[in-house]
Amino acid sequence: MARVFCVANQKGGVGKTTTAVNLAAGLAQVGQRVLMVDLDPQGNATMGSGVDKRTLRPTVYEVLLGSAAVPDAARRSEAAGYDVLGANRELAGAEVELVELPQREHRLRQALAAVQGDYDFILIDCPPSLSLLTLNGLCAAHGVIVPMQCEYFALEGLSDLVNSIKQVHANLNRDLKLIGLLRVMFDTRITLQQQVSEQLKAHFGDKVFDTVIPRNVRLAEAPSYGLPGVVFDPSARGAKAFVEFAREMVVRVERM
Ligand code: ADP
Ligand code: MG
Repeated sequence: MARVFCVANQKGGVGKTTTAVNLAAGLAQVGQRVLMVDLDPQGNATMGSGVDKRTLRPTVYEVLLGSAAVPDAARRSEAAGYDVLGANRELAGAEVELVELPQREHRLRQALAAVQGDYDFILIDCPPSLSLLTLNGLCAAHGVIVPMQCEYFALEGLSDLVNSIKQVHANLNRDLKLIGLLRVMFDTRITLQQQVSEQLKAHFGDKVFDTVIPRNVRLAEAPSYGLPGVVFDPSARGAKAFVEFAREMVVRVERM
């Protein structure tokens, strides 16, 4: 049975999509069967996996509205090594349309139930908000992976997200857990980042993943080639860190 994880943080530009596609590719490299679900109308995770969002149909939008099944909408990314349930700007409309539908927070969970046996991991790239789309992700998941930069305001935003996870756990999805905080775009030369990193560990303990993702330009270049950084340049420091993170996730899941 697949383990389902949301990559979430209500801030934009913190590394969610980079984490989703590179963790997916890293897990594929260590032999896991992976489905990556793009829940962001920007479709960056879709494009970054080598699937063209402009011509893609059906997408996760049709899946949420109930007019397509996951196996019909998912595409294999041969280059990246995993399956992609893609998104494009059409998904922005779902936010409004879902409100009218029954079980509006549970649409994704219900759709993914049909493919639970086909994958080891299902990763969901969430939009930068605590919207109905993100709620669908949180209701479908066993856990949340939170990428964050070790900056001054990072901790502040975190409490909103942690509260939302608690609320969803209490009211909508008893399975949901905060799996961990992933330090991304990390630069060891910056003292402030070291300090925030120490604060994180003091406050969240083993909820902070051991793996640290460095700031690495190869990870930022990869999407324009339609590839996860892990595949684009496997020798890059950032790529190696994501494969390491994939291994850490496999071990964590065995203990869950
Ligand atoms: P989000 O999905 O949270 O909005 P992204 O994953 O799109 O964030 O990342 C925001 C920007 O930062 C992108 O341009 C991405 O290429 C870049 N980026 C993300 N992680 C790294 C990293 N470890 N090193 C360098 N650049 C990164
Ligand atoms: Mg994103």
